[in-house]
Amino acid sequence: MVSYRDLVTGLRQLRLNPQRPVIAHASLSAFGDVRGGPDTLLGAILMNVDSLVMPTHTYSTMLIPESGPEHNALQYGSGRDYNGNAEFYKYDMPADRLMGIVSETLRRRPGARRSMHPILSLAGVNAASILDAQTLEEPFAPFSVLEEMDGSVLLLGVDHTKNTAIHYAERLAGRKSFTRWALTRAGVRECPGFPGCSDGFWQVKQYLDPLSQQIAMGDAVVSTIRLQPMLELLVNVLRKDPLALLCDNPDCERCEAVRRSVNAPAETDIAIA
Ligand SMILES: [Zn+2]
Repeated sequence: MVSYRDLVTGLRQLRLNPQRPVIAHASLSAFGDVRGGPDTLLGAILMNVDSLVMPTHTYSTMLIPESGPEHNALQYGSGRDYNGNAEFYKYDMPADRLMGIVSETLRRRPGARRSMHPILSLAGVNAASILDAQTLEEPFAPFSVLEEMDGSVLLLGVDHTKNTAIHYAERLAGRKSFTRWALTRAGVRECPGFPGCSDGFWQVKQYLDPLSQQIAMGDAVVSTIRLQPMLELLVNVLRKDPLALLCDNPDCERCEAVRRSVNAPAETDIAIA
């Protein structure tokens, strides 16, 4: 059984600077049995960090329209059955289960706020400037503020396939992104800048391990990396090899669309013009 004290003491070894913001991704179950559950893990993080954000994405708001931009890794018109299950985005709707119970616990914490995006929101405490940076057009803009503030990524029992900051590195490197649509009370909202697939992000480990601080806590591995050097390194990796970090599933539509955009850039330019 992992206790609050174990978690606070473990996290202290990472020597996070409490003045610097942190974006965390967590899997509670990776720790084994935690006494007190998600509140205990979240409380332990907040003993070490003042300003914390976590993703609270809501994929259940997404719709597939009848038509849209080309090369968008989407079968238009295929959502006629699926769209009926889409939910209206609400500020207080729970985070998708994929985000993990710790994110949802942060969202519900007294004093926590959530950013504006109907699919790619973040929740946070003491993080107004980070959350307010998000727009429909630039869903990953909070990472630019986190970077300016010399923030860090904290991975608690999850690997880099959950590390959302890598999508911001893709954005900085000019990698193709996608358009998706969300159901809101104000109508269907077009959401550009939707990221590609993250299944291949485990490949960053070779580059990021030397920049990471890592400890074992309970059954989980917890690591932290400063955003500034991480982004600089990954943007270089992606500029040198525009096919880096893609997954190898031949049926993955988004990775395939990125490959096509790299192999036939002229065609993509014409489509945009
Ligand atoms: Zn993929």
